[in-house]
Amino acid sequence: MSLRFYDTRARTVRDFTPLHEGRVSLYLCGATVQAPPHIGHIRSGVNFDILRRWLTYKGFRVTLCRNVTDIDDKIINVARAEGVPWWEVSERNQRAFTWAYDTLGCLPPTVEPRATGHVPEMVELMARLIDRGHAYAAADGSGDVYFDVRSFPEYGELSNQRLDQMRGAADTDDERGKRDPRDFALWKGARPGEPSWPTPWGAGRPGWHLECSAMATKYLGATFDIHGGGLDLVFPHHENETAQSRAAGDGFARYWLHNGLLTMGGEKMSKSLGNSLLIPEMVRKVRPVELRYYLGQAHYRSVIDYSDDALLEAAAAYQRIEGFLVRAGEVVGEVAPAAEVPAEFAAALDDDLGVSSALAVVHGHVREGNSALAEGRKERAADLAGQLRAMLSVLGLDPLSEQWAGTDDAAGLRDVVDALVSVALEQRQAARARKDYAAADLIRDRLGAAGIVVEDTPHGPRWELRRS
Ligand SMILES: [Zn+2]
Repeated sequence: MSLRFYDTRARTVRDFTPLHEGRVSLYLCGATVQAPPHIGHIRSGVNFDILRRWLTYKGFRVTLCRNVTDIDDKIINVARAEGVPWWEVSERNQRAFTWAYDTLGCLPPTVEPRATGHVPEMVELMARLIDRGHAYAAADGSGDVYFDVRSFPEYGELSNQRLDQMRGAADTDDERGKRDPRDFALWKGARPGEPSWPTPWGAGRPGWHLECSAMATKYLGATFDIHGGGLDLVFPHHENETAQSRAAGDGFARYWLHNGLLTMGGEKMSKSLGNSLLIPEMVRKVRPVELRYYLGQAHYRSVIDYSDDALLEAAAAYQRIEGFLVRAGEVVGEVAPAAEVPAEFAAALDDDLGVSSALAVVHGHVREGNSALAEGRKERAADLAGQLRAMLSVLGLDPLSEQWAGTDDAAGLRDVVDALVSVALEQRQAARARKDYAAADLIRDRLGAAGIVVEDTPHGPRWELRRS
């Protein structure tokens, strides 16, 4: 089966062929850094990280551009409330986002441009739009620049809306010289006490939509392959991005992919609800790799309704995978990832990134692997472990990878602990052999008190750290 995706603009699944053979350019709307991220924000990062890893596995050279919106109304309001400069708020929250992406194992983007670093590119784009009759500086001299939606017949195509049914754009508090209430701001004229940058039409600051068009085409070219983001961005943000760029003569995105939202009790995540789901809180409930499994396991276009129970179920499912790989390693030694993933797994991901179907293949391998171990079929167990590692690496979930197995220091420490626990377990076996069960139990209890769980198996005792 060929690679295909559901394209929001076409409203159907389309075969994917990149603009340039062997290469894929991908733009993802990143964070507006007014607050630290909750899991709803990071879900998009995880979904598109899996997409990127799959494309990379398939041999494409992927260029991922994920922007940072480091100036906007909300950032200015937070800064004002705290009595600090706007850039202090942006810097602090950008660090929180970067930490969250790293913690959940999202590979860093190829480039991560910030809006305020790209004002000349935005001025150039506005000049092209004004020249072509698609934009105008507000007549009231406010410094606002607007996109003239009536000048662009395709407006509404991405979000499947007709212009005559649209309401006014809610991007300014007042009309401030708009020709049509549905016209949206490309640039917001300076207000007293707000940060601003000079332009030929007056000082001001970037509109949210304009910055993405300017940055996407700067790094990926006038036409690029995939534009991604959350479903809540389709209108007005992405509709406006594509209108600006296409009206200016650029081809812009060839495929539009949108991830479903994360809700709580069926409601969209609000700031107050989201506070309990900030990433530092979440990685106290489960390990980061388990949180990644939870956020990535559902199809990217489906809604995830958050619950603690579902999170713990996901963690348990991940532990079953991990448990097999660890036990297989103990029996057959370290197994390297197979060169290729199973065909069934590849077909699932090729079909609009069907991670849930791909995970069914993963769990099938775990079940068969456990049987193989129980029956002493070591070669089969090793084979399955290798295939599992290849599949998990595409999903960013391989527990034995450098990413999740920890640093060299931690790995070294594990060897030391393993040697110490082995000494204790030999003493315990010796105590049992001489029928001194009290001594044997005491050793087991002392290990338990240190957080080490001992399990007796047909192949001898094995240990693991207790998970809280
Ligand atoms: Zn954007």
